[in-house]
Amino acid sequence: MAVAPLYKTQELKIYNSISGNKEIFTPITEGNIGMYVCGPTVYSNVHLGNCRTFISFDLIYRYLKHLGYKVRYVRNITDAGHLENDADEGEDKVSKKARIEQLEPMEIVQRYTLDFHNILTKFNNLPPSIEPTATGHIIEQIEITKTIIDNGFAYEANGSVYFDVKKFNETNNYGKLSGRNLEDMIANTRELTAQSDKKNPQDFALWKKAEPEHIMRWPSPWSDGFPGWHLECTVMSTKYLGEQFDIHGGGMDLKFPHHECEIAQGEAACGKTPVNYWMHANMLTLDGKKMSKSTGNILSPAEIFNGESDKLNKDFAPTVARFFMLQAHYRSILDFSNDALEASEKGFYRLMDAIQSLDTLKTGKTTEGFDTEKWIRECYDAMNDDFNSPILIAKLFEAVKFINTVKENKAIVSTSDYRLIRETMHAFVFDVLGLVNVNEASSDISDKLSGAVELLINLRKEARANKDFATSDKIRDELQEIGIQLKDGREGTSFTLN
Ligand SMILES: [Zn+2]
Repeated sequence: MAVAPLYKTQELKIYNSISGNKEIFTPITEGNIGMYVCGPTVYSNVHLGNCRTFISFDLIYRYLKHLGYKVRYVRNITDAGHLENDADEGEDKVSKKARIEQLEPMEIVQRYTLDFHNILTKFNNLPPSIEPTATGHIIEQIEITKTIIDNGFAYEANGSVYFDVKKFNETNNYGKLSGRNLEDMIANTRELTAQSDKKNPQDFALWKKAEPEHIMRWPSPWSDGFPGWHLECTVMSTKYLGEQFDIHGGGMDLKFPHHECEIAQGEAACGKTPVNYWMHANMLTLDGKKMSKSTGNILSPAEIFNGESDKLNKDFAPTVARFFMLQAHYRSILDFSNDALEASEKGFYRLMDAIQSLDTLKTGKTTEGFDTEKWIRECYDAMNDDFNSPILIAKLFEAVKFINTVKENKAIVSTSDYRLIRETMHAFVFDVLGLVNVNEASSDISDKLSGAVELLINLRKEARANKDFATSDKIRDELQEIGIQLKDGREGTSFTLN
């Protein structure tokens, strides 16, 4: 008999940004979830703040999968059309970087997409199911622009096409996600500049005519140009998940105007609101202040891994940084600091040590001093309460405490409880939180490495005994080249890693 999926017995609540309430989650199609998360604009190395957003949604993706849902997770790559400011002015970010670095725009895109994947892999993020690009969906973006014009919610001006926010707001509600209303927005914006083609400052571009120096351009019915940034997410989410889908996520900073515009585009094109649950991950500060290049208050993921930053006293394993981030709820602001990371690191190793102790724990007839069933329920309750990872981690540490007490022979665990605790710990620590036991991995690698080097040392010894000095020197020199130094002494040959 097939086991019923976990989600059937769990009541998951999600904080929906559009209602401002935690709501019971019900997917459109039972057992299936469509989730879209706004991906990076690939014109520079990925920011630590963005990593936090993607780690938050990785936790969510992992938990939904753990519950037995079939999840289609779409996360886009913005490789065109994201202008420097929200007023549809300035250059395309990718084009600008290409001009500065004298590279093809697609070289910029490739370089920073690789960086993005590399960093997220280090953090042990699962890849999304589909990772579509804006430039791969230009035709669809032109088609939806035509539809929005035909439906009367967009207009052409001098080769560009703009979304008519005022017109849209007559029948729909522009501002419902960010809690703004159009009258206030109009009252608080400055007049349009004389050269603007927009009817109103709130209107946003669906298609922009390219200036002669603009490199990234495509033909369209209106001009040689490029799509507006908000449009790609509407096109790619609905193409792969349907006109209405379950979850749309992104960083808090994307709520307005980006996500507000996505709702408007979706409703204007399909007559349906596109998303049931809007989720926004909060930002990251560094030493209590906003991260910013201009003030120097900045830390990159690479600097965490190599420790080469004046903000840190040492390097930290990516999984420790991930653990640190998951110790805060995704909707709270998280402050990054050396001290906080060091504290997390201690906790992380305490957790890993307990998991390792579990493998050799002695079991008895009954359990004393721990209510296993209640503990498991509380772990799920934490995650079912809008993915509350800090509460979950606190629960995991209750088990750590119990495991250590059993280890010291001060408490007893029954065989069946032992199995349940071990299974639950592994599921939450590795599958849901996505942590990696670096203790285990690194000691395993060093054991194997030592074995291989010992083998070479013995081969070198044999070569020398046979007066084959060419081979013995070759072994020594080539090991030296890869950073392994052999030292001959009275006790034999030893090695050190440079
Ligand atoms: Zn987006």
